[in-house]
Amino acid sequence: MIDEQTTMTEKPVRVRVAPSPSGYLHVGVARTALFNWLFARHTGGTFLVRIEDTDKERSRQELIEPILDAFKWLGLDWDEEILYQSQRIDLHKKYAKTILDSGHGYRCFCTREELESARQKARAEKGSLIYNRRCLSLSEDEIKAHLDAGQPYSIRIRIPEGVTKYHDMVSGELQRSNEEIEDFIIARSDGTATYNLAVVVDDHEMGITHVIRGNDHITNTFKQIHIYHALGFPVPQFGHLPLILRPDKRKVSKRLGDKDINQYAREGILPEAMVNYLCLLGWSPKTDREIYTVDELVEIFNPDNFNTSNAVFDEEKLEAFNSEHIRMKSDHDLATIVAPMLVDAGLTTKYWLETRWAYLRAVIGVLKGRVRRVTDFVSMGGYFFSDDFQYDEKADKKHFTPEAADLLEELIARFEALPEFTLENTEEALSSLADVKGIKRAKLIHPVRLAVSGVPVGPGLFDILVLLGKQNVNNRLRKAVTYIRKKI
Ligand code: GLU
Repeated sequence: MIDEQTTMTEKPVRVRVAPSPSGYLHVGVARTALFNWLFARHTGGTFLVRIEDTDKERSRQELIEPILDAFKWLGLDWDEEILYQSQRIDLHKKYAKTILDSGHGYRCFCTREELESARQKARAEKGSLIYNRRCLSLSEDEIKAHLDAGQPYSIRIRIPEGVTKYHDMVSGELQRSNEEIEDFIIARSDGTATYNLAVVVDDHEMGITHVIRGNDHITNTFKQIHIYHALGFPVPQFGHLPLILRPDKRKVSKRLGDKDINQYAREGILPEAMVNYLCLLGWSPKTDREIYTVDELVEIFNPDNFNTSNAVFDEEKLEAFNSEHIRMKSDHDLATIVAPMLVDAGLTTKYWLETRWAYLRAVIGVLKGRVRRVTDFVSMGGYFFSDDFQYDEKADKKHFTPEAADLLEELIARFEALPEFTLENTEEALSSLADVKGIKRAKLIHPVRLAVSGVPVGPGLFDILVLLGKQNVNNRLRKAVTYIRKKI
């Protein structure tokens, strides 16, 4: 019975994330990376990245960079050189031979067709579909004859009888009858290692102490434990994370077109918000509090608090986390993120912003409480940088009336008389005009807002006026008066 696990808890934590570049990094692997990173940072351990690029058909070289970019964006820095599995093929082969030579493995000369017909027969007889061990009983002479005849062979590992058990960091004690684990192939007929052998060899050579990954790997874990034993390697601790589901309850996957993590960055999500949200999918701080900084998560992260139930990734919830994190950031830091977005949107130039940094910061300050994504600063605040905007159609019909044009004209005169714009004197100018006219302030506020911003909602009107300044405001008001008169 295999149930012993050489625990390595006394050793400093060394963990890794091992993405396969067969698709972009989606939230599933990003979360795996995050938990490993948090575990390493919390314990003062080491976090490593290994690129699992041995599957030539599915791996795409051009995806490696975006995957690493996504880790960088999330702030998941790694501590040693990145390891590429494809550069270690000879090493994997060597260990396949070690397993064969030690008697833990055996040569299998079965052809693909033979294996398929055995499976079909088993299916028809409702028998076990696992390998029937035909080649395990070959005699020395039979093996020699096959080899002399130049017949290709793969190497299978021999699974002993009994039960395989291990303690999962997430799910606790897990076990599987060895009858369900077949003598799986560890090296193909061209000598190259299969996936499970490569993973074990690399994890061992990298000194990995804890393997934390998605629970779709549990079946692999039961196989890998036998490889550790066959090679005499200490078995690391394993933890298998619950799945992340989409709101439609299907598993997040590359195939369903789930989003590249980098896409969230382009869509105005802050990395701090993504880290905070992902961390609560499958792990719990054991309190009701939800919003944490990355440093706080590093501080409180504890691998005993993984959840066993599946988590649902809900972009609306992520957005709610994002707006909290936006409010926690300084105006200056937000300005650094928003500035290139404004330039990309063609609303201003890099030079203009560089000379008006205080203005940008102030704009960020007044919009900050209203945005849910960083991109909202651009979509909601374009009028702070350009007067080339259209008037909202519905608001135009409602507020740009002939009466409003007359009022705006009078307001311009009052504004012109002000030496400079402040919150108090702009408000006073507007209120006193409303008083004189015997109208509600709203009669003025709506057309003024529309004239200076093009939209019917936004931050406090006087904040906008002060930021834009007297000249800008009056130009916009004049433009609106001309526009209204023309349309009548
Ligand atoms: N390359 C595997 C994956 O992307 C990771 C396997 C592992 O962590 O052991 O699912």
